[in-house]
Amino acid sequence: MRISHFHFQTLKEDPADAEVVSHRLMLRAAMIRRLGAGIYNYMPLGLRVIRKVERIIREEMDRSGAIELLMPLVQPAELWMETGRWEKMGPELLRVKDRHGRDFAIQPTSEEVITDIARQELKSWRQLPKNFYHIQTKFRDERRPRFGVMRGREFTMKDAYSFDRDVAGAEKSYDNMFDCYCRIFDRLGLRYRSVAADTGAIGGSRSHEFQVIADTGEDAIVHCPQSDYAANMELAEAVALLSDRKPAAQPMTLTPTPGKSTCADVAALLGLPIQQTVKSIVLATDARDEKGAVAATRIWLLLLRGDHDLNEVKAGKLEGLDQGFRFATVQEIESHFGCKPGYLGPVAPVRPITVIADRTVARMSDFITGANQWDHHLCGVNWGRDLPEPDQVADIRNVVEGDPSPDGKGSLSIQRGIEVGHVFYLGTKYSEAMKASYLDENGKPALMEMGCYGIGVTRILGAAIEQGHDAKGIIWPAAIAPFEVVICPVGAAKSDLVKAEAEAIYQELIAAGIDVALDDRDERPGAMFADWELIGVPVRVTIGERSLKEGKLELLKRAGMAASTCERKDMLDAVRALL
Ligand code: ATP
Ligand code: MG
Repeated sequence: MRISHFHFQTLKEDPADAEVVSHRLMLRAAMIRRLGAGIYNYMPLGLRVIRKVERIIREEMDRSGAIELLMPLVQPAELWMETGRWEKMGPELLRVKDRHGRDFAIQPTSEEVITDIARQELKSWRQLPKNFYHIQTKFRDERRPRFGVMRGREFTMKDAYSFDRDVAGAEKSYDNMFDCYCRIFDRLGLRYRSVAADTGAIGGSRSHEFQVIADTGEDAIVHCPQSDYAANMELAEAVALLSDRKPAAQPMTLTPTPGKSTCADVAALLGLPIQQTVKSIVLATDARDEKGAVAATRIWLLLLRGDHDLNEVKAGKLEGLDQGFRFATVQEIESHFGCKPGYLGPVAPVRPITVIADRTVARMSDFITGANQWDHHLCGVNWGRDLPEPDQVADIRNVVEGDPSPDGKGSLSIQRGIEVGHVFYLGTKYSEAMKASYLDENGKPALMEMGCYGIGVTRILGAAIEQGHDAKGIIWPAAIAPFEVVICPVGAAKSDLVKAEAEAIYQELIAAGIDVALDDRDERPGAMFADWELIGVPVRVTIGERSLKEGKLELLKRAGMAASTCERKDMLDAVRALL
């Protein structure tokens, strides 16, 4: 690419509304321009990166045996009604009407449309398995679009859907996609981790997220360096931190703790470790009658050690909470505990509640909780003696750094990650709702077993930059950089030698199959270098008259900014060595 025939306009100043480094750098390096909240123009440099990402994904998907097709952006509402997602997706689904008043969805994903295709096209066991994919624009009206392309409203996703005869087949398809994803993220040049993820209502253990490791990631990912245990925070199992419950050693005492409503404050006031405190979280579930009106409300008290946090996903899987729960209102809390929030505890509530203790809390003795009395806590509380055993003991907390690994082989470490891909076993959720069946070997209809597999194409750009940048700008992995090499001639306007050599090197690199840019804008060297350092091209070849006369070229490797020189005749090998 001759840059005089290309277009980019880099920005010197940091844009005001960009919170994370990738968003700032993508704007400054002219990769994207904002059109509206969560909606971006992909500018020529950004598009080059997107196309490279797509190409790697396509090559590996094709190699895995998946088949590309393309499903429309605008999808009839009827299909979404068949699966109930027209309602369930809520405001995240963008809806439009045509001139006849018919409803359509702008696709946020394509399970409905692909299942509709499958039920029409795949009639016999002989046609299975199949895996269809497309790379298509998505729209999700995210509650909080932010971080540029990382959580956009319009974005590009690769989504694939597998169809199998049975569970064993679906598992094979899943494993095949898992391996394919590993190849894709390896080739993209990203540091990533695959982690087990929650499967929600579908159950089973077949869901993995591919997370790019970056301190700024929205997700917490958990892994054990001593074993291969890896899961996201929602799923990672928290074991009890005490091996057994010690016998009571203290009497229960009502202790004034004025103005100290948090476990940390109470522990500090009493000069005791926070690990001796127990915090109370009050939830409510509503039973509804046929008309949908609330018939009865049940109040739940969840107990966690003072330094632990509730994991709502885990809580939401417990019997009784699995149909949906909410946080109790202040009024409900007062009527059940006889006290306003801040000093709540499990001892002697005024009305019946269901008590769920976290595994660790169930093994604590002589602990401190709220006294259900304003400005007071109870110390020396013991299960069995001062209050009944909990109704249920369960894992309801987030793991913390250093927790024992649930596989018993070491301790857990927590990193931040950016979810760039997701593989998910769907079972017959969609095939059942949409009656997608095939005839098996005995001529009997059977539901297709499905899996779905997404990659956030545009999110990958943000994730790669969060992982690869320095004070000067972006450091792209060579595989997805907008150009692999940039040639910067210095003083070409005044030197025919420089001009001719720049052209010759440009042609040599093109002939070698290298994606090269020739910066023939005739910019000052400082401005030219700053642009390419910001844009993040992996290798720069600088051509100056003085070194040329000595038969030499200057090279710069963007990662680490390591400068070197090479003989003019060795240029190609030297450049290749740096890529
Ligand atoms: P998240 O938890 O981040 O909202 P999700 O579970 O909604 O993700 P999926 O439906 O599994 O995501 O979509 C597949 C992939 O699409 C994700 O792994 C992610 O890389 C990408 N993706 C999802 N939402 C967005 C978005 N708003 N902007 C950019 N990429 C997205
Ligand atoms: Mg989402």
